[in-house]
Amino acid sequence: PSFSQLDLSAPMRANLEKLGFDHPTPVQEAALPPALAGGDVIAQAQTGSGKTAAFGIPMVERLDASSFSVQGLVLCPTRELADQVAKSLRELARAKDNVKIIALCGGVSIGPQIGSLSHGAHIVVGTPGRIQDHLRKGTLRLGRLKMLVLDEADRMLDMGFEEAVESIIAETPGKRQTLMFSATWPKAIRGLSERYQTAPADVRI
Ligand code: AMP
Repeated sequence: PSFSQLDLSAPMRANLEKLGFDHPTPVQEAALPPALAGGDVIAQAQTGSGKTAAFGIPMVERLDASSFSVQGLVLCPTRELADQVAKSLRELARAKDNVKIIALCGGVSIGPQIGSLSHGAHIVVGTPGRIQDHLRKGTLRLGRLKMLVLDEADRMLDMGFEEAVESIIAETPGKRQTLMFSATWPKAIRGLSERYQTAPADVRI
């Protein structure tokens, strides 16, 4: 398998080459075609599988940088993961000019985050509690969201974020693309998928 067989823009191809991504990993090979086509995906993926690029490549490819609204949201269980994901997305977003990505996590003061949001962002990566805080304050709006990602969804549920995740999803358009990544598939994960996804491609590696 090779990235050249996928429906990628020329700048994204060149960027992946620069990043040293010669071939898609198994989760990328299975998840990229449906995700690039705009479909929902539920994928079983561990850390190290290349899952970040599996959602990051379609998120960057599908976003309109000329429109300053939040088009992509990635929910993560921890600040460490959110920071790592934001960093990876910034590398992938070099394929496009002027893409702004911000991380919104708890444990740091909210003022600077509000300042960054006021300048506009295309992609937000964060933990559910802090994302909820911004939604309540009206400093983050998700009415024009195109793609939602639940990363390490099982860990988010283990940490008690199910209600927060559902209340965030309620603020997003019904017509959105939803990708879920989870290392395990307990009943609660299948329930989330059934409630919030439409005919998801089922990726198990
Ligand atoms: P992740 O599972 O998303 O945390 O990714 C694990 C590591 O694999 C990261 O350092 C990525 O930069 C790297 N990576 C992701 N996709 C590829 C690929 N197709 N080829 C080479 N490295 C990759």
